[in-house]
Amino acid sequence: MTEVLNQLFIGGAWVDAADGATMPVDDPATGEILSQVADAGAKDARLAEEAAVQAQAEWARTAPRARSEILRRAHEIILERTDELARLMTSEMGKPLAEARGEVAYAAEFFRWFSEEAVRIDGGCGTLPDGRNRMFLSRRPVGPCLLITPWNFPLAMGTRKIGPAIAAGCTMILKPAPQTPLSSLALAGILKEAGLPDGVLNVVTTSRAGEVCEPLLRGGRIRKLSFTGSTAVGRLLLAQCADAVVRTSMELGGNAPFIVFDDADLDVAVDGAMVAKMRNMGEACTAANRFFVHRSVAEEFGRRLAERMGALEVGPGTRDGVDVGPLIDIVGRAKVEELVADAVERGAEVLVGGQTPEGPGCFYPPTVLAEVSPESRLMDTEIFGPVAAILTFDDEDEVLRRANDTPWGLVGYVFTEGLDRGLRVSEGLEVGMVGLNTGLVSNPAAPFGGVKQSGLGREGGRVGIDEFLEYQYIAVPVR
Ligand code: NAP
Repeated sequence: MTEVLNQLFIGGAWVDAADGATMPVDDPATGEILSQVADAGAKDARLAEEAAVQAQAEWARTAPRARSEILRRAHEIILERTDELARLMTSEMGKPLAEARGEVAYAAEFFRWFSEEAVRIDGGCGTLPDGRNRMFLSRRPVGPCLLITPWNFPLAMGTRKIGPAIAAGCTMILKPAPQTPLSSLALAGILKEAGLPDGVLNVVTTSRAGEVCEPLLRGGRIRKLSFTGSTAVGRLLLAQCADAVVRTSMELGGNAPFIVFDDADLDVAVDGAMVAKMRNMGEACTAANRFFVHRSVAEEFGRRLAERMGALEVGPGTRDGVDVGPLIDIVGRAKVEELVADAVERGAEVLVGGQTPEGPGCFYPPTVLAEVSPESRLMDTEIFGPVAAILTFDDEDEVLRRANDTPWGLVGYVFTEGLDRGLRVSEGLEVGMVGLNTGLVSNPAAPFGGVKQSGLGREGGRVGIDEFLEYQYIAVPVR
């Protein structure tokens, strides 16, 4: 394994925090400290901002093909180092190695996708309806960006923002989550190796998020915030962006309904549930949070899901054969424990799991709860853990109303063999994405994002680059 990077990346150089501060990065499987990483403060944020602002004009002028090829090279380097990056990610975040390898491929694909989009930024020209003016329309980078990412997909949340920003010609400051800074620093190293000019990407790792980010958002030089994280923090950052009218993209929390109709193929539904619930140990914004199962098949679905969940092996992500790694930290696990205890107190039946194991590490077993009361706290809280909560329903109108009865609208899952019903219910869900007879929607070529309080804007797909571009229209009189 090559050296683990642990300094700030500013203006193309690796530097310590100005005040010399460092913060520990823990292994959630053991609780042991993996590394000490530079802990940036307000002064480092100013230096990173200066580097991004200084680099912006030249980077915007750089040929799209050159920007594209840097992304393409970085895509290749990431894939060449799959094993190394997967091990680093597993060590700081906990997910099993097989899942970490999957994330490396997913993360790399954002770079390939946006390398292809970089050379297709279009414009237009024409005569205006009055016939007296021509219109020239071009698209320009929005300017220096602040990118804030969560810990649950340490590499892919970075590439999903960095890819389109590079393609569009924006410079940026990346602030990763303090639990998982190592993957982001490795990514910065790869982009440098791939030829990214100094100052285009700056990475500030910090335990002082407010001190670092708020002055950047209020200062007027950062022109765009792309944030992925909780709705609560997203709301706070939107308010901070108001002063300087900073453009925003917000990928926020979810509360996904997973609906199984009586005509569903239960093999397909249980397979879908395993992915929608257990990908990333349930620590995903797309995780199925509320399982609505038709009363006539609820018992069989619950029994089959519990069998599959109970057969999963829990342990350190680096161990062969492990399916479920530790949760991110003790706080995250305590939240899951409280939600399960609340549901059980309100009458839920534990079909499997539900007991925190003894010993070190933040492990929690795959758990299935049946007969969950709609009053339970986990109905309107992201569980963010391996817990499937099953409720029953009787008819289509009722389940749509209950599925939509939430402030969130990121993703929903529908299982039915009826095409008409599948499309009707999918279209009736107030969400940005639907998995119809599948438990996986994420793909770099598709627009990812939510409605309602799950966010603003889309990442990936043909529209992902639009979030980093502005239109400019030039009027030229016809003489
Ligand atoms: P979080 O607590 O909102 O944190 C996300 C990021 O925001 C972290 O880097 C965090 O750093 C930073 N942050 C927190 N307060 C801040 C402030 N005042 N100023 C600037 N930055 C601040 O979320 P999380 O627990 O890391 O991630 C889980 C959440 O992300 C879930 O709600 C999940 O649904 C959501 N998510 C959404 C998507 C999507 O695409 N929609 C994808 C993945 C995850 P600190 O930890 O240092 O505060």
